[in-house]
Amino acid sequence: MNSMKVRVRFAPSPTGPLHIGGVRTALYNYLFARQHGGDFIFRIEDTDRTRFVPGAEEYILETFRWLGIQFDEGVSFGGDHGPYRQSERKELYKVYVQQLLDQGWAYYAFDTAEELNARREEAEAQGEKFQYDASTRSQMRNSLTLAQEETERLLQEGHPYVVRFLIQPGEDVHVDDIIRGDVCINSSILDDKVLWKSADQLPTYHLANIVDDHLMEVTHVIRGEEWLPSAPLHVLLYRAFGWEDTMPRFAHLPLLLKPDGKGKLSKRDGDRLGFPVFPLEWHNPETGEVSSGYRESGYLPEAVINFLALLGWNPGGDQEILSMDELIEKFNLEKCSKNGARFDYVKGFWFNREYLLQRPDAEWAPDFVRILAEQGIETTEEKAAEVVSMMKAKVIEYQTKDGPKKRNISFVRDLWPLCRFFFVAPTAFDPEDKFIRKNWKPETADEMRQLRDVLATIDDFSVEGQKAVVDAWVEQSGIKPWNAWRVCLVGEGQGPDMYGLSAFLGKEEVLRRMDFAIQTLKL
Ligand code: GLU
Repeated sequence: MNSMKVRVRFAPSPTGPLHIGGVRTALYNYLFARQHGGDFIFRIEDTDRTRFVPGAEEYILETFRWLGIQFDEGVSFGGDHGPYRQSERKELYKVYVQQLLDQGWAYYAFDTAEELNARREEAEAQGEKFQYDASTRSQMRNSLTLAQEETERLLQEGHPYVVRFLIQPGEDVHVDDIIRGDVCINSSILDDKVLWKSADQLPTYHLANIVDDHLMEVTHVIRGEEWLPSAPLHVLLYRAFGWEDTMPRFAHLPLLLKPDGKGKLSKRDGDRLGFPVFPLEWHNPETGEVSSGYRESGYLPEAVINFLALLGWNPGGDQEILSMDELIEKFNLEKCSKNGARFDYVKGFWFNREYLLQRPDAEWAPDFVRILAEQGIETTEEKAAEVVSMMKAKVIEYQTKDGPKKRNISFVRDLWPLCRFFFVAPTAFDPEDKFIRKNWKPETADEMRQLRDVLATIDDFSVEGQKAVVDAWVEQSGIKPWNAWRVCLVGEGQGPDMYGLSAFLGKEEVLRRMDFAIQTLKL
């Protein structure tokens, strides 16, 4: 590596929502940049206008805002190497295409779509695959086969054409990959890739990508394994431009595999098994289809970062919970795996739980309010936070006859079924419920009526206000009302401290629930 400042880029094409694998690619670039005090660039590769999807660029930016991954320059961040949206660099690419044409590294091809299709079909009929390369280009309509005057005429008359890269066959092309070592491919298998199209005056991905990485002084190209087959072509392009000395180093990251490890992770796996494959919810502008996102499903950004960071790389040792700073410190491209990483989404639950439990109660509130609203319950963040602080410890660790056990609370939404009674009064009592059978005796209805009347006299319904009066009544009456009172307010044998719950519900609701239980359970 040369001594230049590390500069890496994340260069998505705005063709839809970012796949979770793309998020991992961006994260690895970010960790690498931060570790080396380098720059992280955000470039939009939108030269394929047929695949452009409105809203995708904003979606990608929003994803990284949510995750706390910051760029140093690029689209919407500014910088000295702009513009960073390839569609805005249109004019600039023409110079470089011309350079390749002038120096004989590329040629004009005039074959129409129909002609190319005919060749493809012909080849298929013989059980072969047509490829535009050294073996076929001499039979096609291009500036290598046409007389020079004919080429000039076609150009002058404005016939549509593409510029193709001239691949010399029979050469071993080496890609020095940080993760994979020396990757060698023979140039004979490569086709003469289209670099530029006259129809829209735009370069294709390959040309724009190389020109931009060069002009933006990118030092390391860290991207998904799906780009490895293109890497030899990219090496040849650097050579054709005379930029081999400053060619970036490549690192092709392992694929994310299906949870069972068999094949590439797809959106269908997520739909089938119930986990998101996109960072944020995505509304397809064409079909109206909505795909779930990590954010909307209740994942915390720190958990997503930590989970993704360890898919394809591990720092060694037992520590699995790593903050962004620790990841930046320990990240090592050389230790990334060559093999695909199994997308263990259940492990994602675990990460979320670990981070969720570290969060202060008040930070659970906004999500909890939203989840309650989905259930038709309106409440304030203050009220929601009160429930969380009364219940969090209890719902996570609870007592059984074999000692304390832990529940799997991985998301704020897991609280809802365990906290329903704060917002919804019991409407029936299960006669088979052990707790009710044990604690509701023939005399209980009468005792609860006494307690109800005592509570009705209390003006200050705070925990302290109730305690002062009710404790005295307990003392004087000798009645132990706690479990039966719980049955009245909760409907079963769970929940927080009774005074806390009662204060939360308020006098009116408490009396209403007690009246209902006394009525119902008496019968
Ligand atoms: N635009 C490409 C993509 O969408 C970038 C690939 C690269 O990083 O070279 O993934």
